[in-house]
Amino acid sequence: MSDDKKLARASLDSLYRIFTVPEAPDSTLGRIDQSLSQDLAGFLQQHIVASERDLADIESDFDSAAIPEHPTFVSEQIQFVMDKLVAQSVHISAPSFVGHMASALPYFMLPLSRIMMALNQNLVKVETSKAFTPMERQVVGMIHKLVYDNDEAFYEHWMHDRAHALGSFCSGGTIANLTALWAARNNALPPGGDFRGLGQDGLLAGMQHHGYQGLAILVSERGHYSLGKAADILGIGRRSLIAIPTDNRNKVRTDLLASKCDELKRQNIRVMAIVGIAGASETGSVDPLDTMADIAAERGIHFHVDSAWGGPTLFSSTHRHLLKGIERADSVTLDAHKQLYVPMGAGIAVFRDPKTLTSVEHHAEYIIRKGSKDLGSHTVEGSRPGMAILVHSGLHIIGRQGYELLIDQGIEKARAFAQMIRESDDFELVSEPELNILTYRYVPADIAQALAQAPESLQRAVNEELNKATKRIQKIQRGLGKSFVSRTRLNPALYDGDDIIVFRAVLANPLTNTEILSDLLEEQRQIAATRDDVKTILGLARACFRSC
Ligand SMILES: *Cc1c(COP(=O)(O)O)cnc(C)c1O
Repeated sequence: MSDDKKLARASLDSLYRIFTVPEAPDSTLGRIDQSLSQDLAGFLQQHIVASERDLADIESDFDSAAIPEHPTFVSEQIQFVMDKLVAQSVHISAPSFVGHMASALPYFMLPLSRIMMALNQNLVKVETSKAFTPMERQVVGMIHKLVYDNDEAFYEHWMHDRAHALGSFCSGGTIANLTALWAARNNALPPGGDFRGLGQDGLLAGMQHHGYQGLAILVSERGHYSLGKAADILGIGRRSLIAIPTDNRNKVRTDLLASKCDELKRQNIRVMAIVGIAGASETGSVDPLDTMADIAAERGIHFHVDSAWGGPTLFSSTHRHLLKGIERADSVTLDAHKQLYVPMGAGIAVFRDPKTLTSVEHHAEYIIRKGSKDLGSHTVEGSRPGMAILVHSGLHIIGRQGYELLIDQGIEKARAFAQMIRESDDFELVSEPELNILTYRYVPADIAQALAQAPESLQRAVNEELNKATKRIQKIQRGLGKSFVSRTRLNPALYDGDDIIVFRAVLANPLTNTEILSDLLEEQRQIAATRDDVKTILGLARACFRSC
């Protein structure tokens, strides 16, 4: 004990040690490190416990705000990390966890991430990133080419151009959407006369100069919540993000989109962007991008496509036609940490016209100087890690053909799962998988039959009970820890727009197979058949029919 005390005191000696001496191979951390690199799947399988602990209970492990006065031994802290964090984390990469948008990672991402961290380059400026800057510009160029497919001369001219950027590499889809809409907003109210542009003079001056009553962004009701944040940050307010209804396939109603544009124009409200979705987070559906591009072009409106999820579908010769029209977008968001299988923290916004991002350009004296190639002049973020190395490596190691296979088999698997659901008389497919996401729910055959013939008001009452059942089944299944689907709320036309809670399955993990999916359904069936609370809810649903 006294020995411990002596060691557990801050000293320059021990500080020098942690900066210079690696953990011994037989130390706690050394051993963990080894098993991580030798058998990642095994490590996760072994150390993440399946049974769910109550979050309030977990909070008790993290309830002190006191900063430790004395140093803690590495081994002691690592033991805490293993017991309290690793054990209680989510098994994202398990093939039976099909509810998340991030799934398994290829092995090479781990050592590459270590290299990235060891180098700790800061991409904000060339001085702190050197080769990482042209590498990131190349990655942005590659994603630009994936979307817009310009010729070689274009990329030769623009990719490394010091005054322009083909896109902005950032931490994810949220920031990518924000960046795109930031540029769109500033371009919608361009400088002129006394007005020096939004970046200099602000929104109020811009509105006065241009004589607008307001600004708006239009997106379907399936739009991602990050767009609401962007509307807030950009100063136009969330209520100026206008949701356009969707059709029975969860695609934006372009007739309503066009008429809303014209209605707003009559009110002197400038639509600063129309946002198309290529792979809605909830349903995976893709908007009619070509028609949306027409609507935007006819009215001189910035067209942004949020393909955070679905963008990589462009790798697939078979399925890329689903995104037709994306190449006409002024800006496009793509998340690398979703279907490019890169660890969390990598998103990209690309711009068709290399001049679009000029409207948000920002310079400072000691950093991101004018005329430098510093990437920080066109990004929301300042200091930024070299995540692009992981995208660069993925694009090379997996290649276009590899990503094509991943996309194709994901879509095929989703179709097979949809077929499985259609064929079972106690599940109902709520949204068809256009890409690799589908939604469904548990509806026992007798209820399904009665529901189909019930009048609208009765349907609503029954659906309310079924919603409770779906919620319970999802929570119980998650708690059991063997498999996972997420859940969301939709308003399908089949039930006259009533709120329907559904299971949401995302088929992106290459290790997921149909047997796993069939087991997942079976587990849900078992939960419904054996859990008293679910049985009670289903009983109430049945009682609805009798009482009317
Ligand atoms: C995931 C997602 C986003 C947000 O991306 P983050 O990386 O979570 O910030 C935006 N739009 C869509 C369609 C998405 O699927």
